[in-house]
Amino acid sequence: MKNLWNDADAQKMVADYAKKGVGRDLALRVYTTRLLGGEPRLVLHGGGNTSCKTKATDLVGDEWDVLCVKGSGWDMAVIEPQGLPAVKMDALLKARRLEKLSDEDMVALQRSNLIDPASPNPSVETLLHAFLPHKFVDHTHSTAILAIVDQEDSRALVRTVFGDKMGYVPYIKPGFDLAKVAAEVFDADPSVEGLILDKHGIFTFGDDARQAYDRMIHYVNVAEDHVAKNGKPPAAKAALPARLAKPSDIAPTLRGAVAVSRGEGRFDRMISDFRTSDAIVDFINSAKIADYAGRGVSTPDLSIRIKTGPMAVPAPDADKLGDYKAVIRSRVRAFVKDYTAYFEANDALDDVKRTMLDPMPRLTLVPGLGMFGHGRTLKDARIASDVGEMWIEAVRGAEAIGNFHPLSKADLFPLEYWSLEQAKLASNKPKPLTGQVVLITGGAGAIGAATAKLFAANGAHAVIVDLDPAKAAEAAKAAGNSSIGVGADITNPAEMRAAFDKAVAVFGGVDILVSNAGAAWEGRIGELDDATLRKSFELNFFAHQSAAQNAVRIMQEQGTGGVLLFNTSKQAINPGPKFGAYGIPKAATLFLSRQYALDYGAYGIRSNAVNADRIRSGLLTDAMIASRSGARGVSEKEYMSGNLLGQEVTAEDVAQAFLHQALAERTTADVTTVDGGNIAAALR
Ligand SMILES: [Zn+2]
Repeated sequence: MKNLWNDADAQKMVADYAKKGVGRDLALRVYTTRLLGGEPRLVLHGGGNTSCKTKATDLVGDEWDVLCVKGSGWDMAVIEPQGLPAVKMDALLKARRLEKLSDEDMVALQRSNLIDPASPNPSVETLLHAFLPHKFVDHTHSTAILAIVDQEDSRALVRTVFGDKMGYVPYIKPGFDLAKVAAEVFDADPSVEGLILDKHGIFTFGDDARQAYDRMIHYVNVAEDHVAKNGKPPAAKAALPARLAKPSDIAPTLRGAVAVSRGEGRFDRMISDFRTSDAIVDFINSAKIADYAGRGVSTPDLSIRIKTGPMAVPAPDADKLGDYKAVIRSRVRAFVKDYTAYFEANDALDDVKRTMLDPMPRLTLVPGLGMFGHGRTLKDARIASDVGEMWIEAVRGAEAIGNFHPLSKADLFPLEYWSLEQAKLASNKPKPLTGQVVLITGGAGAIGAATAKLFAANGAHAVIVDLDPAKAAEAAKAAGNSSIGVGADITNPAEMRAAFDKAVAVFGGVDILVSNAGAAWEGRIGELDDATLRKSFELNFFAHQSAAQNAVRIMQEQGTGGVLLFNTSKQAINPGPKFGAYGIPKAATLFLSRQYALDYGAYGIRSNAVNADRIRSGLLTDAMIASRSGARGVSEKEYMSGNLLGQEVTAEDVAQAFLHQALAERTTADVTTVDGGNIAAALR
């Protein structure tokens, strides 16, 4: 691993922060924390922390000795001084005299001694940093170090690899007890330059930021060199099918299998993030992959991301895809059974009240293809994949020099079910559509964009399909929540299919279709040329049918139901003069919606239509409003609010109706009217 310290960069950071009133100690603490945080082989998604002992002044001007230590929720790669809250040292040091300190009391002690009470919670490893005397302390979960400590006889190996310059700390759950034992190990030999924490990671320290950082990189290199010089070749590879299926062939089935059933056809779904590379596939193709996966996580805090470890499934044979669905479901059932047994056995050991987390895997390893990270949001799914890559690094190294032997699951349990983590999860309420994927055609138009925005605000990830890729991307950005834009001519079946493939590639599947794209052609029906009517049917009927066909194909693979929503317009009920080319295919689409409700209800797939009228959009532009209101001799405002309520109806009102239909879990074959009231167009 390369040492990235650069004097000029360090001095520049000191000078830049000095202008903002931040002292040299904290500026350099930020500098090397970012160097460590930028390297995934050291630090990943909150797994690691740093500190420095310095002085801070409170609001009344009193100066205190403080520990500035990484606050929870901050990413080390982009940390700022406020991500290293200052805690008064005196109180922290006094805590070492205590016999016992619960996790809750430890947090209370740390919070009540913050200089700024608005700071984030100081790291759970704060006391360990405080009890060591050095000015700068660095801590990482380096994959190279894990290869050494995740061995059965790790104590002897640590001695062989690092000599007596590093102290050895046996595994203890992070918190007060670990801090005390680590400090005792240091006190027994204060000449050490760092501590190796069994099954967990490494601490290094020094009198200045550079010394602590140099030592971290040095000892990580010692570990890397040991693995490189002593590594044996990897285990034999498993035989793969002659023809492998593609990731998109299995993604919806897998995504459906890991959804949590709430019973009665209701599900909490997850997003799947597919990740692959030569290194990933090479490792996952090992004949021993299921064995490795079953042994557990490489460092305990990964359990918050991937539970007790990954799930391995067999390689999918393209010629036997029909059977593969059952294989995936049986593997997920086995994972759930093991996880439930792990929870029940460990929960029974004391009287603490715990709620079992959902038992689904968060990382699936597929030989021949790569891996899928699963999470309630795309961000969580990607984090699971990131963690998977580092798990592979650590296991590969551990197996090269011995046998991967991580922390036992019994010892992992108190960390996964740490009371403070449980409280955090309980406060993290999902939104109504969290975990769901909505594909919206005509997604960059007024109604499509408003619908995407509303669905994204309610937790869904939107796939915005539009003829114009730039506008689709723009609407996706406006919708937020990691939504994506896809350019496609949806009257071309291959382009429609590609849009759904993209949804599967990015999110793992589709749960909601909003089939919204449409365009109007005018002309008296008796004189209309066939080509115009056929063109209208392509977009206003066949594109809806093609979208729905793709959606139900994916929904049936997922096996978790779904909903089709069609924009059918008032013309489907109440024709307007010279509007036949538009209204006739829309009437067919209204019945298309009912046909899907009838044919797919048994699969939990619902189908509804929204019947909207007079909305400002690409179909009813400001110029058209001016000309039509002028022709009728009314103002534009009167024209737009010419309904029973006397109010203009907006794209947001239509979006609200789609959302209602998506959320109403027992509503299918429904038509919802959004027109401010028009008796002639009212449904009977
Ligand atoms: Zn740690």
